[in-house]
Amino acid sequence: MGGPEIMVEQMSAALRTIAAWRVAPEAEAVCPLCGAKGLTISDHSARPHAEWYRLVCRECGLDQMLGVPLGAAVPGGDG
Ligand SMILES: [Zn+2]
Repeated sequence: MGGPEIMVEQMSAALRTIAAWRVAPEAEAVCPLCGAKGLTISDHSARPHAEWYRLVCRECGLDQMLGVPLGAAVPGGDG
């Protein structure tokens, strides 16, 4: 409550961040909210029709689960 959240306006940037992370997990991810490096992404996918990723940024305090519907247009997201 009261912490930063990824809203609709940041969602496309967040999806691009996740797609880039899936291609190169060892690369440093950038927070879609504050732009700081060192964003932590973890895969919590458990459902057949969606993938879930947790984005944690220690700079701005972001800690949010994002659902990514399969079939969404995520560039480079072919896992
Ligand atoms: Zn941040």
